[in-house]
Amino acid sequence: MRHPRSRGTASSGNRRGGRATGVRRQVLVLGGTGEGRRLASTLVAAGGWRVLYSLAGRVREPAVPVSCAVRVGGFGGPEGLAAFLRDERIDVIVDATHPFAARMSASAATAASATGLPLLMLRRPGWREQPGDTWHRVRSLPAAVDLLADFTTAAASQADVAPRVFLTTGRTDLALFASLHRPWFLSRSVEPPDGPTPPHLTVVLDRAPFDVAGETELLRRHAIDVVVTKDSGGTMTAAKLTAARDLSLPVIMIDRPPPPPGVLLAATIDDAVTWLTTHAPTSGRG
Ligand code: NAP
Repeated sequence: MRHPRSRGTASSGNRRGGRATGVRRQVLVLGGTGEGRRLASTLVAAGGWRVLYSLAGRVREPAVPVSCAVRVGGFGGPEGLAAFLRDERIDVIVDATHPFAARMSASAATAASATGLPLLMLRRPGWREQPGDTWHRVRSLPAAVDLLADFTTAAASQADVAPRVFLTTGRTDLALFASLHRPWFLSRSVEPPDGPTPPHLTVVLDRAPFDVAGETELLRRHAIDVVVTKDSGGTMTAAKLTAARDLSLPVIMIDRPPPPPGVLLAATIDDAVTWLTTHAPTSGRG
């Protein structure tokens, strides 16, 4: 089993004493991902842990792990989170939020530092381009908007039809694309958009996992010209990339924000469990 890659020492190691047999350690899992749910369930099943699973509250009927306490809603920034960690007597934090949930991750790093608690970030690997793919990597969502504007201008000069874009960046990012008046957008999200949107928009409400047959049919039915996606990684939403490859469609791939400096990273649930089992401290509560 591979030890998680260390990006520094700020949050690594056992700061509050060794592991005590028979003492349950209290872990806060910042969730919102399949990995977060599976980690929480794995720890509950393993025993020796009190698991508190936290969600932002963006989705009305969220998927939650079985048999563990769930809390919903923001903490009120890093100070609020630090107070929560003290009040709830948390021993260790796992940031298992989405790779693009940069504010929560930054807040977790600051609060971990302020409280002296160990923090592990569980991050699934990003996607890799494969033969047959035509990906255009961009560093941020605004850069994707710029590239899409260029792309649709070029397409418009070739044909007098509006380019058709499959946008899978999520409803909260739709507003960034609202200034693009020419393309027609197909957007997919779990909840309907509630902010500004591009003028030519069709919304599909759906929840992962998606398969290649379904994604291919969706791209064909809507005569999509280009796919725009965040580099979320994982298997749940990867089928659209296979479908785009099969249909020779270009993909605008938005890079992840970097993790906060110094935070310890685990790429898999097994790595996270191994680290937690061997490194997480206990505050000595029974
Ligand atoms: P964000 O911009 O980093 O978070 C915004 C604020 O929401 C945070 O500052 C925090 O509020 C609160 N928050 C976020 N995650 C939380 C959690 N797990 N528990 C409690 N509060 C949380 O993140 P986001 O993009 O809004 O994502 C929100 C949630 O949706 C995350 O759990 C993430 O895993 C999930 N998600 C995000 C994406 C995406 O593309 N961004 C995709 C799928 C799922 P306070 O500052 O008040 O503490």
